[in-house]
Amino acid sequence: MRRPALILTALTMGVLRPPTALSAQAAPSPTTLIRNVLLLDGTGGDARPVAVRLAGDRIAEIGNLTPRPADNVVDGGGLTLSPGFIDTHSHADRALTRGNDGLGALSQGITTVVVGEDGGSPYPLAAFFDTLSRRGIPVNVAAYVGHGTVRDRVMGKDYKRRATDAEVSRMKEVLAVELKSGALGLSSGLEYDPGIYSSRSEVVELAKVAGAAGGRYISHIRSEDRTEWDAIDEIIEIGRKAKLPVQISHTKLAMKSLWGKGDSLIHLLNRARAEGVNITADEYPYRYWQSGLSVLFPERNFTDRKAAEFALDQVAPPNEITLTSYGPHPDYAGKTVAQIAAERGTDPVTTLIALVKDADDARKAGRPSGETIIAASMDERDIEKIMAWPFTNICTDGELDGRHPRGYGSFTRVLGRYVRERHVLSLSEAIRKMTSLAADNVGIMNRGRVVPGAFADLVLFDPATVIDNATPADPHAISTGIIKVWVNGKLAYDGSKTTGTRGGMVIRRK
Ligand SMILES: [Zn+2]
Repeated sequence: MRRPALILTALTMGVLRPPTALSAQAAPSPTTLIRNVLLLDGTGGDARPVAVRLAGDRIAEIGNLTPRPADNVVDGGGLTLSPGFIDTHSHADRALTRGNDGLGALSQGITTVVVGEDGGSPYPLAAFFDTLSRRGIPVNVAAYVGHGTVRDRVMGKDYKRRATDAEVSRMKEVLAVELKSGALGLSSGLEYDPGIYSSRSEVVELAKVAGAAGGRYISHIRSEDRTEWDAIDEIIEIGRKAKLPVQISHTKLAMKSLWGKGDSLIHLLNRARAEGVNITADEYPYRYWQSGLSVLFPERNFTDRKAAEFALDQVAPPNEITLTSYGPHPDYAGKTVAQIAAERGTDPVTTLIALVKDADDARKAGRPSGETIIAASMDERDIEKIMAWPFTNICTDGELDGRHPRGYGSFTRVLGRYVRERHVLSLSEAIRKMTSLAADNVGIMNRGRVVPGAFADLVLFDPATVIDNATPADPHAISTGIIKVWVNGKLAYDGSKTTGTRGGMVIRRK
């Protein structure tokens, strides 16, 4: 019921007919006319002063339109209208199944989130999609199938090793079923358990299954610091051998000795593209990431002082690693490793090793063991270089109720700080990277462009004031300058509040 096939067919054939024309004999249903706006249609072209008419869940007409009696007229006040933003790397999965109202996404202009990232997806996806459809969702949701999830179904707790050929075959079967539920493709998290124990060939074999089904591959690559160049080589090889589009998740150079090497990275990616590998990237606009303590120890040698020293010297300094949650010692939340070391009267290396060990002991004993950290490892020059690459789209890597401000501020931060203040991108190019490019990079159809027949996901915003306000200390602060947001033609965000309309759809791969 939520996929009017007729219109999709008309669009594919290039017949850009408004959906109202297909139901002409019915009584005129209410439409929305958004007038007095500058339209950035998502393609990267210049802003145009036009009006846009929405009918049902679709964009019906664009141009110099005059109000009709059935129109609910919205005066855009001369502000900018664009397609709703598409977050190609989101961790909204859990919050959405719990009924979150989507404020973190909608308040920064996001109308579609892509989940099942970093190798972890809700299992089985069909049940997840059912739950969302039944509950109603504030934004559209698409999902990848997690490689780690598939590996876990087959190998269970015995995962700290290469998979056998028979196990890879079983993984292929599980993946194929999940892809049939409408996933966009295969995601991996090769810096995390259990993906870190997989061989390249295991991932290539699974990526072939995704590619054969018309899907894609998206990856938190095997290293974002110590062995980053090998990890880049790996994802390019996966694209070449499995013959499918590949996307690097939350692209970064997260180690001091890599700072300033953004050009080298872009050179490698351009060379791969020139050789026929369809490689793209997404990025969020912060110097600091959020993850667990374990990623500081890629060899999983948690008691090795040399490894801990290296992490604190090269990956993130003790005063820039903040625990955002810590099960064994909840009052450490909000403190840096340097502060905790001072409190304990010891050095940061000893402290880091103890923090990992205490969390591990707690997990084994069944006590609260969860730990998350925010750590600063990136350099602004590289963030800008990666952002400006024509094939990089914007993402959050955030949660709807998380501790990293990216969950509330990524897109508005790009528009305020990187477009208006620092001129890293033009406004129309930034919008392209948030809409049509994002849709193309993950294979979402009929969204990300304001054209007749497309779904009516729209954002009305003020380019002169738009900016993020969320910080690590106040991660859920609402952005400035996002005025109204529509999801599938329904007003979802207005006046700094969600409207409570759950107009989102589950997006399935065609
Ligand atoms: Zn990740």
